[in-house]
Amino acid sequence: MEILRVENLSKIYGKGETAVKALDNISFSVSKGEFVAIIGPSGSGKSTLLHTLGGVDRPTSGKVMLENTDVYGLDETKLAIFRRRQIGLIYQFYNLIPVLSVEENITLPLLLDGRKADKGQLKEILSTLGLTERLNHLPNQLSGGQQQRVSIGRALINNPALMLADEPTGNLDSKSSHEIIELLKMFNKTFRQTLIVITHDERIALQADRIMTIEDGRITKDEVLRR
Ligand code: ADP
Ligand code: ADP
Repeated sequence: MEILRVENLSKIYGKGETAVKALDNISFSVSKGEFVAIIGPSGSGKSTLLHTLGGVDRPTSGKVMLENTDVYGLDETKLAIFRRRQIGLIYQFYNLIPVLSVEENITLPLLLDGRKADKGQLKEILSTLGLTERLNHLPNQLSGGQQQRVSIGRALINNPALMLADEPTGNLDSKSSHEIIELLKMFNKTFRQTLIVITHDERIALQADRIMTIEDGRITKDEVLRR
């Protein structure tokens, strides 16, 4: 079942002589439960693509359809709500809020929506992420791998349609990188969480179901490894 469809996506930053075409007429679709790795040289448009898929960065032209919603057809208020509920974003440097505890960081997307965490679900997420003993810690009291696990919890708390990760292991040692990838794969395989991950690490890309290569804002290769 198709969950994401991207049609003729282009993104131009700036105007006139200094304009940069970061995405050049990109089209593809992703099935529910698919794990897609995006690779490509620095500056090729990977982060721009991820942010555009995530409702964060409005494209210059083209369309993003996520579960039958035309993402950029939404007005800004609806888009903010849609993003919070349907998109889980994971960054290289975690983007946690330093003054909030682990539990507060994870449940923030719910609180912003005026909802409360389901205690059972929260407990399960914390235990899966190995954070049960860290509930009341602040981000700076945690290792990099633990902080990234918190950010995975925050991304998952709303059961998003799509999980997007931009170099999630880029700041971690190899042991923590391995743990993070195993967790992402577990959520992907066990809960059919659709997952798109930007990575420089070939070992990570090879774990995906599909590898898309972006060069100069275009898809130059789209390879299915497993179904
Ligand atoms: P990647 O993630 O593959 O390194 P990016 O998507 O970050 O590539 O960038 C693609 C191109 O768009 C680059 O040339 C970059 O300099 C440019 N770019 C990215 N963000 C902006 C921005 N906010 N303003 C202007 N140019 C940008
Ligand atoms: P803003 O009010 O600046 O638009 P948001 O309300 O979108 O910010 O989000 C506030 C915080 O919650 C941010 O730190 C953001 O990283 C986090 N957050 C919101 N939605 C998500 C999500 N879908 N996945 C991960 N983190 C999220």
